[in-house]
Amino acid sequence: MRIPFLNLAPMHSAIKPEVQQTFEQVYDSNWFILGEQLQEFEKAYSQFCETTHTIGVSNGLDALTLSLRALGIGPGDEVIVPSNTFIATLLAVTYAGATPVPVEPDFRTYNLDPNRITSAITPNTKAIIPVHLYGQACKMDMITDLATQNGLQVVEDNAQSHGASYKAKPTGSWGVLNGTSFYPGKNLGALGDGGAITTDNPELARKITMLRNYGSERKYYNEIQGFNMRLDELQAAILRVKLGHIKYWIHQRQDIAKIYGQELKGVGDLVLPYVIPDATHVYHLYVVRTEYRDELKDYLEKQDVETMIHYPVPPHLQRAYTSLNYRKGDFPIAEKISKTCLSLPIWPGMNSQEIEKVVTAIRDFFRN
Ligand SMILES: *Cc1c(COP(=O)(O)O)cnc(C)c1O
Repeated sequence: MRIPFLNLAPMHSAIKPEVQQTFEQVYDSNWFILGEQLQEFEKAYSQFCETTHTIGVSNGLDALTLSLRALGIGPGDEVIVPSNTFIATLLAVTYAGATPVPVEPDFRTYNLDPNRITSAITPNTKAIIPVHLYGQACKMDMITDLATQNGLQVVEDNAQSHGASYKAKPTGSWGVLNGTSFYPGKNLGALGDGGAITTDNPELARKITMLRNYGSERKYYNEIQGFNMRLDELQAAILRVKLGHIKYWIHQRQDIAKIYGQELKGVGDLVLPYVIPDATHVYHLYVVRTEYRDELKDYLEKQDVETMIHYPVPPHLQRAYTSLNYRKGDFPIAEKISKTCLSLPIWPGMNSQEIEKVVTAIRDFFRN
């Protein structure tokens, strides 16, 4: 029995009849862009995030880029990002023409450390992008307070954390604008690319609604220079179906994480996920750390257990960002995480034999 890193089949087979029915509806409507399905999904996703507006867009990177653009962030501006995030967080900043300024995370939660933000703020700083990495919510009260005190905007990167919350307030509802991704492997995934921006600000919502559709509100009348960054009807339709099941699927992820936590506690030098008291963790990824990461990964591969590394190279050391002029050693926490982290298989519907196989293989590795 091979254990893949992610298996969408249990989720997708459970909702197949519902999806087929919805797809038939879209097919028969002959309306595929900016229609009823998108409107209904946006309404439902706003409810889920407890915001007044959702604007469906083409993907997570575009969601973040549009957010920064809508805020007027551009050349000469600096935006604070976590030093250990996925490259898209930085790409959004550079697409907007601004400069990303990495800040180290808390080594226990892997999330942006509010105590380290202040010293990174300069007169050019315009915004902070907290990333709820792996699915755990950041300390959003401290981050938003800090932003307010310093006149900065907060744009959440909610791509890995649909359904998480901090002090009972959902991620995706804290920032002035919040971007998320519906890439198929995310906790809420489309059948292709997709993304959304959530906000309580009606003017920004209107601006982004224009920006995603050629800068136009009325067809062929263009108010601003916009983009084609829309979420299509078929993707909106599947997302609405999946949103109806997301809470159950998150519970399943949390149950699996609990079993991993019990079974892997004290095994070798493994460091298990640490969840801070006020946050919830939706376990988009179940990430452990060990000094023997590469050996463990190889061993598991030989045992037919697939794992992944999120992420092997921190953004400041990526060739794409040599222009930022950072060097090895500049962000030691991010670098340490990149060398020691390992993401174990987790998906809604993963059964107990599958979990047991992962656990047994890891224990065997540390016994030898
Ligand atoms: C996936 C992801 C993105 C980008 O989403 P896409 O839809 O692939 O563009 C951005 N930030 C984080 C943290 C992500 O995990």
